[in-house]
Amino acid sequence: MIDFGHNPVEKPSYRRRKPTSKMRGRIKPEVYAAAMERSGGHCERCGKYGNPEYQTLQCAHLVRRWRIEVETTINDVAMLCGPSVNTGTCHNWIDYTKEGKDWAEEYRQQLYERSKENEE
Ligand SMILES: [Zn+2]
Repeated sequence: MIDFGHNPVEKPSYRRRKPTSKMRGRIKPEVYAAAMERSGGHCERCGKYGNPEYQTLQCAHLVRRWRIEVETTINDVAMLCGPSVNTGTCHNWIDYTKEGKDWAEEYRQQLYERSKENEE
């Protein structure tokens, strides 16, 4: 395209094409509800029953937020016992230990495979 008299400097390309990682990392209420249903109210790793009153079950990201492409889906999260700031909880474990991160990656893979199977 020839466009004389037009400043050839491109518009800044850093304008957002995709949502910010914060937006992508947002867990929508329906995702939360689906995760809760899947977990049956138990921690998806250790099976500990979550106390709804104290909200000991947390919807944890299985991947770093910046690695989520579009938005957080049911396959990107797991209900884990928390709070994440407490050592010894599963949420803390997947957020702060290498072993936990590996588990989370693997669990996410399983979820994706399972959801693929369900589609077929
Ligand atoms: Zn747990």
